[in-house]
Amino acid sequence: MSRRRFLKNLSLAGAGLAINPLKSAAQPLNPDPSIKDNPLVISTWIHGMEANAGAWSVLESGGDALDAVQKGVAVTENDLNNRSVGLGGRPDRDGHVTLDACIMDHDSRCGSVAFLEDIIHPIDVARAVMEKTPHVMLVGEGAQKWALENGFSKATFEVPVPPVQKDYEEWLIKSEYKTGVNVENHDTIGMLALDASGRMAGACTTSGMAYKIRGRVGDSPIIGAGLFIDGDVGGATATGVGEAMIRTAGCASVVESMRRGASPEEACYDIVQRILKKHPGVNGMQVGFLAMNMQGEYGGYSVYNGFNYALRTKDRNEMVDAKYMRTWE
Ligand code: ASP
Repeated sequence: MSRRRFLKNLSLAGAGLAINPLKSAAQPLNPDPSIKDNPLVISTWIHGMEANAGAWSVLESGGDALDAVQKGVAVTENDLNNRSVGLGGRPDRDGHVTLDACIMDHDSRCGSVAFLEDIIHPIDVARAVMEKTPHVMLVGEGAQKWALENGFSKATFEVPVPPVQKDYEEWLIKSEYKTGVNVENHDTIGMLALDASGRMAGACTTSGMAYKIRGRVGDSPIIGAGLFIDGDVGGATATGVGEAMIRTAGCASVVESMRRGASPEEACYDIVQRILKKHPGVNGMQVGFLAMNMQGEYGGYSVYNGFNYALRTKDRNEMVDAKYMRTWE
């Protein structure tokens, strides 16, 4: 990144201070994003470590990025102790667990499902939508019907799983619905991978916001909002309050910033900055972005501290703290 661009970004951080003088703690960007590797995989939050291991088993043997991200996020979907991905997730306010997922490859092929119930692996349905239909997105009852007709089956266990049902019944007493996101209860998995042949793919899957209005769909299954890949440029994925990503076409915007020369970290910073400008008075809205370019550089940026991501390369297998704009009070 040029010095001019770096200085410009620091002054943008200054603009962040103007938005919220008390809480802004904008962290400066890395002036020289020199870490490059290939193959590599990054994914959101701590559950990304296990998901990356799933993806890595494909990548290390020379496999395709698309197979890697599908296998990787399926690990998280399979974990019934995860409260915001897969059928172990929290329900909507009517007590139904509804799942959103999408997948996208190097050549801009993509598939997506939203408001899907009772299917363990929505990411597999998303890939099947991509490969077997002329469409990109199927939702709700229609998505489930199509999945059942195409080799998927309904889960045979109780959904919500018993501990989640218990929490839901407690929640019902007050029925307080808050869209505020915090690190404990919102942790969609978004994953980006670059394979040994230099091809990129991404996947994103979630049970969405806990106790959401029935029918609500977030950013995660929306191509351009919760995930975007362009094999000429790179990719991005997101986590946090999905409405903010939809309003700004968040992940598509990150990729477009990289197309104009921004580093992955700068591109994530730019969109976080834009989101804050659009929501100047909003407190407690966590949003985090991850990006990777075709050179294998990667980075993340979030509104609040606490967002981290899992990184796997041939030499590294660790969590990385994303930079952030504000600290929690
Ligand atoms: N982005 C997801 C949604 O809005 C939630 C999350 O990341 O936890 O549905």
